[in-house]
Amino acid sequence: MINLVLFGPPGAGKGTQAFKLKEQFNLIHISTGDLLRSEIKMETKLGLEAKVIMAAGKLVSDEVVIGMIMNLMSENKDANGFIFDGFPRTTIQAEALDKMLATFKTKISLMLSLEVEDEELIRRLLLRGKDSGRPDDQDQQIIGARIKEYNDKTAPLIEYYQTQEKYRSIKGIGAIEDIFLQLVSAIDKLK
Ligand code: ADP
Repeated sequence: MINLVLFGPPGAGKGTQAFKLKEQFNLIHISTGDLLRSEIKMETKLGLEAKVIMAAGKLVSDEVVIGMIMNLMSENKDANGFIFDGFPRTTIQAEALDKMLATFKTKISLMLSLEVEDEELIRRLLLRGKDSGRPDDQDQQIIGARIKEYNDKTAPLIEYYQTQEKYRSIKGIGAIEDIFLQLVSAIDKLK
């Protein structure tokens, strides 16, 4: 199995690259943000709770997102591998993911981190907000809160994966195809 963590701040391009990588390597793409938005759309209890937290740019509870990942993985036991996009976002989530993968007798192959500076992130997110209708992409204060959550709670995961020698940093600025080729080349080196 190839199991990838696609990492980086909000607006780094994780979703765009995850879509291309999933096609290239025949993997299952799991985006916790997409899963949460679909719960909101279906107006489930979980969705109603998550909506308020997401609108404030805060992280949804570890318990909730870990539960969602667990469900999806058990529905895809025969998968070639997974791309985790927007997960893990805290150390507790990263440890839970390692445990879940161990029950599948597999592990994370690589953590690919897309590096983009804050100014460019804010520009991209505001632009995306114009089309996507995502409320958390339309307000500079909420975007600021999301970047702060990333720096405080998520960025420390770089060290978590560095210690396991799985961290690869890739510049997330430039043509989508060029960034994709760099990601592919990092994954190909695994073989
Ligand atoms: P982005 O990476 O652009 O912030 P996402 O779609 O990944 O967009 O996430 C949107 C929001 O969903 C986050 O701001 C957060 O509130 C919630 N969320 C997504 N994934 C997680 C997670 N793994 N843990 C906690 N909250 C999450």
